[in-house]
Amino acid sequence: MYRSHTCGELNAQQIGKKVTLSGWVQKVRNKGFMIWVDLRDRYGLTQLIFDEERSSKELMDKAGSLAREFVIQVEGTVIERESKNPNIATGEIEVLVEDFKILNSSKTPPFTIEDDTDGGEDLRMKYRYLDIRRNPVKNKLMFRHQVGMKVRNYLSNEGFIEIETPYLIKSTPEGARDFVVPSRMNEGQFYALPQSPQTFKQLLMVGGMDKYFQIVKCFRDEDLRADRQPEFTQIDCEMAFVEQEDILNIFEGLTRHLLKEIKGVDVAEFPRMTYDEAMKKYGNDKPDIRFGMEFAELDDLAKNKGFNVFDQQELVVGIAVPGAAVYTRKEIDNLISWVKRPQVGANGLVWAKYNEDSSLKSSVDKFYSQEDLKAWAQATGAKPGDLILVMAGDAAKTRTQLSALRMHLGNELGLRKADEFAPLWVVDFPLLEWDEETERFHAMHHPFTSPKKEDFALLETEPGKVRANAYDLVLNGNEIGGGSIRIHDKETQSQMFKYLGFTPEEAKEQFGFLMDAFQYGAPPHGGIAFGFDRLVAILGGQESIRDFIAFPKNNSGRDVMIDAPAKLDAEQLSELHLQLKS
Ligand code: ASP
Repeated sequence: MYRSHTCGELNAQQIGKKVTLSGWVQKVRNKGFMIWVDLRDRYGLTQLIFDEERSSKELMDKAGSLAREFVIQVEGTVIERESKNPNIATGEIEVLVEDFKILNSSKTPPFTIEDDTDGGEDLRMKYRYLDIRRNPVKNKLMFRHQVGMKVRNYLSNEGFIEIETPYLIKSTPEGARDFVVPSRMNEGQFYALPQSPQTFKQLLMVGGMDKYFQIVKCFRDEDLRADRQPEFTQIDCEMAFVEQEDILNIFEGLTRHLLKEIKGVDVAEFPRMTYDEAMKKYGNDKPDIRFGMEFAELDDLAKNKGFNVFDQQELVVGIAVPGAAVYTRKEIDNLISWVKRPQVGANGLVWAKYNEDSSLKSSVDKFYSQEDLKAWAQATGAKPGDLILVMAGDAAKTRTQLSALRMHLGNELGLRKADEFAPLWVVDFPLLEWDEETERFHAMHHPFTSPKKEDFALLETEPGKVRANAYDLVLNGNEIGGGSIRIHDKETQSQMFKYLGFTPEEAKEQFGFLMDAFQYGAPPHGGIAFGFDRLVAILGGQESIRDFIAFPKNNSGRDVMIDAPAKLDAEQLSELHLQLKS
């Protein structure tokens, strides 16, 4: 028996008891006549004591040779601690060691394995197995497990069945590039790793499984934006004989359940907003509605007043920043430089201070009277003490830029509170999205999403205006889930492929299996997928998903611990029938 108790288990009730513990040496304090050792395992920390007066010389010497991260097994007696530590569960006791065994020695670790470590991110990633011994990482992995269990229980209770779908599949266009895997047994042919189990879960509905879910890895070979992983986890779901409302209800229920169970917060019915409304009010399809600063379109109030800069623009739009009228010139200049950075790309920013005495002072006083500016204040909802910020330009771009500024200010002003949860459904997404590069329409969600019946006729005339039965769940400015009601008949699906620029041959080659299946009584169906890594991070009150993943990849998609991706040797390449270009 390696242990009778864990390192997090002993307390005053066990005083006098003989125990066996196993774990890692976190710290050694050697006073010569007395040696204290902090022994750690997943469950906690127990202080061990070696005492000249009570332990043999041999044992004292052996204890003196212990160093950080040695793995030891100790036998001893639980005694009351002289100076108690109320901060840890075992803080009332210590174990007077009678004998111990070194189960394994350790090299000196490259960083301290404590809550506050001296290890930088790169080093911690290279030695991730050591990093995982630290509470901040360990606790996040345990937290992830808890969330996963609650999700599984909830969905299982709702009648969902967890079914695994294959990882070696065929390339399917879902918006990103596929990771591909060469087949040794089928020369010149490749599998692709799934961007999501999309087509399989639809086939499970054709198969009559009715309610499917899976906590599943998905793979997308995208340029990695901040805090994205090339492989990530989804809570993937699909339901048959449902309408959008049914799906929103179930997954609103799941989210509410998680917020209640994990954060102890009750959230009222989730508000809903159409995509158009979200773009108009927040310039963003995943608005953080924990704070106001809603957009006000100022075209009527700001154009044709002699300020040429605004006159030619498609959109003039502003926000009121609460309490920011006190900003100095320098602070405002900083904001102007911030929006002019290439990451935001705005031309500039017009400002108007609504002073406490109700006067208005702006950067465009030459062109606008106090009355004009008051009208801006009214439109943006600015109160005395607030700062109005206005941008102008191409409508879509300007909205995106002002949204970036709104989020920046939300952070700066501390309005994005980690302990506040504001979920929101965004519905009625456009079906198609124009892609400048390829000069073609692409499916905004994916090619299996059904258009709204009432918009169907627009597909021929104004495809950009067609709305989809597609929805996203947004939480605190993050998209945590998205899904749609699917097309379930061959005819519509073929038409959709046509609109997306597939020839009938291409559609057949890539999706023949799905369209074939649709000929055998496919039920109406729809689904959703939640980004599990992000959901866990948000519930854990963190912005970054990385620490909630045991072995994450870095920003270049590398695993620096195992050093992947890596080259293949010539023999392996040849076995796979591959030849490198250079
Ligand atoms: N497969 C979709 C995605 O990964 C989600 C869905 O439509 O259910 O975004």
